[in-house]
Amino acid sequence: MTPTVPDGPAGQLRLPPLPTDPGATHRVENQVPPLVAWNVADDPALLAGLRREGAGWYAEDLQRLGLLAGSEQVQRWAVQAEEHVPVLHTHDGNGHRIDHVDHHPAWHALMRVAVGEGLAGALTWGPQRSGSHVARAAGLLAWVQGEAGHICPITMTYAAMAALRVDPQLTAQLAPLLTSRSYDPAPLPMTAKRGVIAGMSMTEKQGGSDLRMTTTTARPVEDGHVLRGHKWFTSAPMSDIFFTLAQAPGGLSCFLLPRLLPDGTRNRLRFQRLKHKLGNHSNASGEIEYADAVGVLLGEEGRGLHTILQMVALTRLDCMVGSAGLMRAALTQAAHHTRHRRAFGAPLADKPLMRAVLADLTLDSEAATALSLRVAGAVDRAEGGDERERAFARVATAIGKYWVCKRSVAFIGEALECLGGNGYVEDSGMPRLFRESPLYGIWEGSGNVNALDVLRVVAREPLALETISDELRAAGTESATYRAALRGLEGELADPGQAEGRARRVTERLALLLQASLLLRHVPGPVADGFLAARLGDGGGLSYGAIDGTVPVTGILQRLPGAG
Ligand SMILES: Cc1cc2nc3c(=O)[nH]c(=O)nc-3n(C[C@H](O)[C@H](O)[C@H](O)COP(=O)(O)OP(=O)(O)OC[C@H]3O[C@@H](n4cnc5c(N)ncnc54)[C@H](O)[C@@H]3O)c2cc1C
Repeated sequence: MTPTVPDGPAGQLRLPPLPTDPGATHRVENQVPPLVAWNVADDPALLAGLRREGAGWYAEDLQRLGLLAGSEQVQRWAVQAEEHVPVLHTHDGNGHRIDHVDHHPAWHALMRVAVGEGLAGALTWGPQRSGSHVARAAGLLAWVQGEAGHICPITMTYAAMAALRVDPQLTAQLAPLLTSRSYDPAPLPMTAKRGVIAGMSMTEKQGGSDLRMTTTTARPVEDGHVLRGHKWFTSAPMSDIFFTLAQAPGGLSCFLLPRLLPDGTRNRLRFQRLKHKLGNHSNASGEIEYADAVGVLLGEEGRGLHTILQMVALTRLDCMVGSAGLMRAALTQAAHHTRHRRAFGAPLADKPLMRAVLADLTLDSEAATALSLRVAGAVDRAEGGDERERAFARVATAIGKYWVCKRSVAFIGEALECLGGNGYVEDSGMPRLFRESPLYGIWEGSGNVNALDVLRVVAREPLALETISDELRAAGTESATYRAALRGLEGELADPGQAEGRARRVTERLALLLQASLLLRHVPGPVADGFLAARLGDGGGLSYGAIDGTVPVTGILQRLPGAG
């Protein structure tokens, strides 16, 4: 066929003339009202867990913090702190090293609230009150929903006391500053400060999980040690003091390095550059060289890993709690959006398949919160001298850190999808939650490392296994699904073959059974029944929402944020 040759030059389309302008085309319809000024602590699972684990006294403060976390002001700070990323200045205009990181005022505002509310340690290590680790965990679970990046230095400062107390003299010097409610970012030596922030500087290029590969050296001198080496990751480099590891003559040891020396001059910590990260943008993560920096030994020489692991136990707890908070924040957004957005003639939240997705997500959010607070309660009771709870906390922290952090990535990805295209756009806040979520799984021991830790504790500490078994039996259920899952786990634990390669499988099963046991005892009814069916039975699938009719969706959705 011969193509018709158009009149005029190539590319010139024949179009109708423009009609007279009918006015604006930009109408905003069926978009969801912004979710502002909500109380993130208006969360029955959080409030019940707080009371159950012995920190009911904190309920009023939690409500106040929850309102603040969901406020327009904090949402604005979160956006500003992420958009205006920290900037490293290595030198001044005359070429002198300054090793200074500038943060946006929004970062400082967030830090000020977190420290002032006691989340950096004042709640737990100040005047002791029973249930104080639970109170702080609940506060963190709420506050992280406002902005997560600044939680990194808050966590490290909270956890620092656990390592510091191996040395009573250093504790006497530093505890008042580490447990202060004053956030004091002024570039001053610690002696001139109202409060200090602590960092951890362990990971080196050649090894992060295997810290025995540390190559930084510590040379003894009068009044302390001189450290030389390189740290591949050190977050919050503007911290006042760093807990670090270095090879001393007696082996791998833990050291404390102040950023500024008592005379106000800088210690020899050279900030090389800041990492360009997937997320966690408000927080600075640096590479640091110790160019003969000075520090003091903390704990016994050669026992550095043992000392720093006291701190890591608590930062791992925070990874689990923080992940539970991010999950709850994402679920709240998904619930809000699907209630207001209509498609195919009805709100999305009324569509059977969306209800299945939301119900399935709700199960994991409830389970993550219950487990986080249970472990925080064990930490409290361990602090009070309860050996069984110490053993439980030891193993359950590793189990929960593995499972809740891992679950949160898929969870937030799914919640994000509930918002459709808007969920992928920064204005929704979902991308920020999503970017943050894998980080909790990586730092403080990545997934495999935690799973292997679970096996190690179970093998070496009979009391840990005993307390877990008791906890699982305490569910007191006749459910055939639960009993079959428990038998399966016992079989896995008794089988010594290829244990290392099965560490994830065993840890996952331990986590699911622990969560099921908690839900059966404390959230009986649709949530517990649904969890049994979807997580231990055949009622669930590999993706959220792939559930069958044994999962009581309507009852579970009564627990969806905002359902009341
Ligand atoms: C944003 C960010 C901030 C950080 N901030 C700090 C900080 O402030 N201070 C600090 O000290 N570190 C920090 N880190 C480092 C972090 O703690 C490490 O990245 C983490 O511990 C893993 O170590 P690695 O990167 O060396 O990985 P590797 O140790 O090389 O591990 C790689 C992978 O191998 C797995 N693996 C390890 N051993 C085994 C095994 N035996 N069997 C099977 N699998 C195994 C791990 O689980 C992991 O998945 C930060 C990291 C990030 C991403």
